[in-house]
Amino acid sequence: MKRTKIIDLLARTDFGAEVNVKGWVRTRRSSKSVNFIALNDGSTIKNVQIVADTDRFDAEILKLVTTGACLSVDGVLVESQGAGQSVEIQAKSIEILGTCGSDYPMQKKGQSFEYMRQYAHMRLRTNTFGAVFRIRHNMAMAIHHYFHEHGFFYFNTPIITASDCEGAGQMFQVTTQNLGDIHKGEDGKVDFSDDFFGKPTSLTVSGQLEGELGATALGAIYTFGPTFRAENSNTPRHLAEFWMIEPEMAFYDINDNMDLAEDFIKYCVQWALDNCMDDLEFLNKMIDHSLLERLRFVVSHEFVRLTYTEGVRILEDAVKQGHHFEFPVYWGSDLASEHERYLVEQHFKKPVILTDYPKEIKAFYMKQNEDGKTVRAMDVLFPQIGEIIGGSEREADYDKLLARIKELNIPMKDMWWYLDTRRFGSCPHSGFGLGFERLILFVTGMQNIRDVIPFPRTPKSADF
Ligand code: ATP
Ligand code: MN
Repeated sequence: MKRTKIIDLLARTDFGAEVNVKGWVRTRRSSKSVNFIALNDGSTIKNVQIVADTDRFDAEILKLVTTGACLSVDGVLVESQGAGQSVEIQAKSIEILGTCGSDYPMQKKGQSFEYMRQYAHMRLRTNTFGAVFRIRHNMAMAIHHYFHEHGFFYFNTPIITASDCEGAGQMFQVTTQNLGDIHKGEDGKVDFSDDFFGKPTSLTVSGQLEGELGATALGAIYTFGPTFRAENSNTPRHLAEFWMIEPEMAFYDINDNMDLAEDFIKYCVQWALDNCMDDLEFLNKMIDHSLLERLRFVVSHEFVRLTYTEGVRILEDAVKQGHHFEFPVYWGSDLASEHERYLVEQHFKKPVILTDYPKEIKAFYMKQNEDGKTVRAMDVLFPQIGEIIGGSEREADYDKLLARIKELNIPMKDMWWYLDTRRFGSCPHSGFGLGFERLILFVTGMQNIRDVIPFPRTPKSADF
């Protein structure tokens, strides 16, 4: 018999129909005469209840129906008598596709997330991780839809790069050299001429610079790919391998850029509300009781926009009034997540877009303001998360950009092709980067970024 996915089965009302479902046992309750099996196949957070009369089945088979076991069940679709579900299956035959012993690591309910991370290969089978990864998929779809509908082209930038100046973080090197026997030249430096690419290469920390090449040809592009940063910061918001979405647009100034960022992120959150309600309700009940309220709040309120300078003034006032921050805050300091969250959660109680940061704490390519001190950067700050988006209007003026590159001693070997965009038909343009996992953190209410990517990579941890 043809298998029906549980999500489709639960929507059916043709009672009496013969059906087949396949899935993994979540729980089994038994009395003398009847067994209730909750079966889940991953298509939805909801289980289907299988009712198996004890006298219709071989006791040896029923013994194998344990938590985690994989079953194929033939039976009749019936209207459910019990609360909590509208349909169930009266089982006629049960085939055990895969047995599951009592050493199954997801046996017990209510294990800590730390425990489950040690079994990241099995945690996918739990309700929470099922919900998180269905939502993650939906967010990827929302992103592609949004940009496609708005005339952006999906543009793939390289993962291996020879430029070490992207400036966004520490890079992982890529080499085919035997690390136990490295070629060194007479000057004692590593000789890369024998290496695969004939020069030092690394994994990308951002696709932006190449993204700008795309935008200044196709008009508007977005990237959506993996990014690698050898961040030695063990925080709940940083991964060594994460996914980033980077739109880049010709003819957008910073205000257009902010409008896009706000519209885009609201669209994604609304998509979750429209398409993932079963999973969101589960997470709202089990993980974070204010999740749904927070999501609805974000889509229905305008983000606050203010300058870094104004933001720092608010933070300094907070300190004067006795608020304690772990890290100091003053004009010129990089804001820590505690500062960002203070502005969002305590002061404005709304998402905030901060603009016009000091040039020293931002990347070389950002458009320089008239004041000579700040650049046209914009960070979008979110409740619970802090920075979720970082972006800017780009410096379009060849001379100004070149001067900044020289000031920072960035090697020209990495920059000539990038500078060509400013030599040949330069145009005003802007873009930003959204950390995919930070979006998923926000939309799911999960607390740790390690729990919103299937197989997290962090310092000293690259299992599975
Ligand atoms: P942070 O200050 O939080 O480290 P950043 O300023 O280094 O962020 P950008 O270089 O602007 O971040 O990157 C763009 C976006 O990518 C960030 O707004 C964030 O959402 C995400 N991001 C940056 N670093 C990481 C990371 N290590 N893990 C997951 N997401 C990240
Ligand atoms: Mn960083």
